[in-house]
Amino acid sequence: MIALAEIFYSIQGEGTWSGTPAVFVRLAGCNLACDFCDTDYAIERFCSVDDVVRAVREAGGDCPMVVLTGGEPLAQAQTPALIEALRGDGRRVHVESNGTIFTKLPADVWLCVSPKERVDPRMAKRADEAKLIVDRRVPEEHLPLFELPTILLQPEGNKPANVALALAYAKAHPRRFRLSLQTHKFIGVP
Ligand code: SF4
Repeated sequence: MIALAEIFYSIQGEGTWSGTPAVFVRLAGCNLACDFCDTDYAIERFCSVDDVVRAVREAGGDCPMVVLTGGEPLAQAQTPALIEALRGDGRRVHVESNGTIFTKLPADVWLCVSPKERVDPRMAKRADEAKLIVDRRVPEEHLPLFELPTILLQPEGNKPANVALALAYAKAHPRRFRLSLQTHKFIGVP
């Protein structure tokens, strides 16, 4: 069974795919407990993989993009089966992970790793996108693990001080860093 927090249809507000319509499947629970976490990933209900696939269809019709988020979506044993079922239903699956739990993912699954206190080097290597949360500092200690040419800096909570810090860092290192804002919050959508 899948422990589910919520399913909703919106747009991806952050990172490379910003502005793209997507169905979000928030899986309940996380293996970390970050100080700044503002995500409600409490369990709303338990459901089967097929139930989730059906709920995605009901929420987003034939929207191709489905984002598995959390909490930590790779902390649940049934997540690989859910990914397979969604791919079988014609979806392009994106996973937003803290990168701590090594999981083999199909090549067409987009993996966004947002490292927190630690990250598994194999997940950093597999990542299609790296999103570093800037919360009073740029967590440079994670950088050596990523081979990606571009790293996203996302100011925590869109707070002005964090925005200024991320912006200054990106401008000082323009070949590798980009600012990623939580644009969905500007327009008041989840
Ligand atoms: S990894 Fe993400 S969801 Fe988990 S506690 Fe940290 S910020 Fe919250």
